[in-house]
Amino acid sequence: MQTFLEIGLKSELLESIEKLGFEKPTPIQAKAIPFILSSNSDLIAMAQTGTGKTAAFGLPVINKMDKNIKGIQTIILCPTRELCLQITNDLKVFAQNSSINIVPVYGGTPIYQQITAIKKDCDIIVGTPGRVNDLIKRKKMDLSSINYLILDEADEMLKMGFKDEMDAILDQTPTEKQTLLFSATIPPDINRMAGKYMNTPQTITVSKQNLTNTDITHNYCVTEPSTSYDALKRIADITPDIYSIVFCRTRHETKKIADSLMGDGYNADALHGDLSQAQRDYVMGRFRNHNLQILVATDVAARGLDVDNLTHVIHYHLPDDIENYIHRSGRTGRAGNKGISFAILAPAEQRRIPMLEKQSGQKFVHSPIPSGTDVFSKRLYNYLDKITETTPTDFDYNKIKAEVENHFKDLSREEIIEKFVTFNFNKLFNEYENSKDLNSSRKAKNGKAKGNREGKRQVVGRNFTRYSLNIGSSNDLRPDVLISLINRQTPSKKIDIGKIDIQRKVCFFEADKQHEKQLVNGFKKARFKGLPLLLETARRSTDLNRYKSSKGRARNKNKKQPAKIY
Ligand code: ADP
Ligand code: MG
Repeated sequence: MQTFLEIGLKSELLESIEKLGFEKPTPIQAKAIPFILSSNSDLIAMAQTGTGKTAAFGLPVINKMDKNIKGIQTIILCPTRELCLQITNDLKVFAQNSSINIVPVYGGTPIYQQITAIKKDCDIIVGTPGRVNDLIKRKKMDLSSINYLILDEADEMLKMGFKDEMDAILDQTPTEKQTLLFSATIPPDINRMAGKYMNTPQTITVSKQNLTNTDITHNYCVTEPSTSYDALKRIADITPDIYSIVFCRTRHETKKIADSLMGDGYNADALHGDLSQAQRDYVMGRFRNHNLQILVATDVAARGLDVDNLTHVIHYHLPDDIENYIHRSGRTGRAGNKGISFAILAPAEQRRIPMLEKQSGQKFVHSPIPSGTDVFSKRLYNYLDKITETTPTDFDYNKIKAEVENHFKDLSREEIIEKFVTFNFNKLFNEYENSKDLNSSRKAKNGKAKGNREGKRQVVGRNFTRYSLNIGSSNDLRPDVLISLINRQTPSKKIDIGKIDIQRKVCFFEADKQHEKQLVNGFKKARFKGLPLLLETARRSTDLNRYKSSKGRARNKNKKQPAKIY
């Protein structure tokens, strides 16, 4: 299947796709869309993160929905509030030319607004299992006549302990419906669930090729937060032909970095949620045309921007989860080009590397920030080489030759060269002469690091409360799962999390003291894989020392060879 047109979607959807700039279906879309359009059978679709699964179910389901039917026709369940909002946004864009209404429901915000929205006019619900179940129990959501049920990131939902809620929700749906299950992996409990709730499902998988893209090199450098901007500049300076997206965490940071880069004379601009659609289109257009070399963006704003020839994806801050990391990095190394994914880390963030390596199956290679002298000579020679290689084409030098030579008649060859180099390199030379080494030699040691992004939390231990929770590695708890769990119990707050220590049957973590109440309340009725959770504030004790020594050992084993970024 070559194009969206050939796939057989309605013209109103094709228009939205065109606006989004999707040129052709991704492999999972090419397989799933025609299947869903032409069949009412159940489907299990497996594809890695970042392969376009939202459109793979969103487009055909919207295409098939009947606007004349009143009430909820489709329910999409997904694991987190963020995903819920993301899917809602995507679907709203797909459905912009139709009158289909999409309502997100998730915990942590007042339920009443959501009830009103459902009552008013709602064709598609996108919800997290907890909140959907709550709404059903309150009899505010009627799923008895839905036609489509979609389980997005089904594996994550089970991993996060939503099994009971999912069972309860699925029990409320009619037998006659199409169930579509999308997942990055199909663990045994998904098969079990499919066996129980799905009707001889068809299975579609796309290979892992998107994930383990061998054209991408994963590098990182370590610097103090106060010098991360300078590190970014050095990376840009040593790569004169850089064409890169620099990912930041917040709009504010995005603006700040882009403004600084522009102020420092780089071809850069910002892409973030505060821009109007027209402004976004303008910036994206300039970037696509290579009028901009560096685009500073938030993850959300960079979605839908499709460019094939990025030299670098730079993580000015690491994203919170591996999916985002893979998604960001996958923007380079496309279409057979080589690309570099480069993370600028604070010393304390180094400890995330082994975990990132494990989750992504990729090696991360330490690549020191080039010294000022390195940058300067690289730029100088690059420039001199370009000059030497220049041959006049489409340019009749003879026409101006006499005038130019007359201009320089009183200068010797040496003097001309000297002026020429001074003129072009004076600024860079001054900037980089005596410039300092930006590489931090500090290890991410047990939170002793001072003043760095992550270290701050730990040094300033007084701002954290320490908790214990009655689950551990024997319950398949991993740090990312724990973080999702905490976020899930406190969806309205972004709570800073400090050190995490997962033991076999128990885990300890630190979290911002300010939110102690919300956290304790949030965990009151929480379950994990069916297990009632018990959250308690913990005193610092020997568990911490155990943590320290085991971490120290793990880190030493992970010493790597430095790599070059250029
Ligand atoms: P997944 O759910 O598989 O992780 P998403 O549906 O979130 O992936 O899509 C990942 C990104 O790819 C999004 O930014 C989306 O806009 C983009 N995308 C999806 N389909 C296409 C396509 N056919 N062409 C270009 N980009 C696409
Ligand atoms: Mg998805």
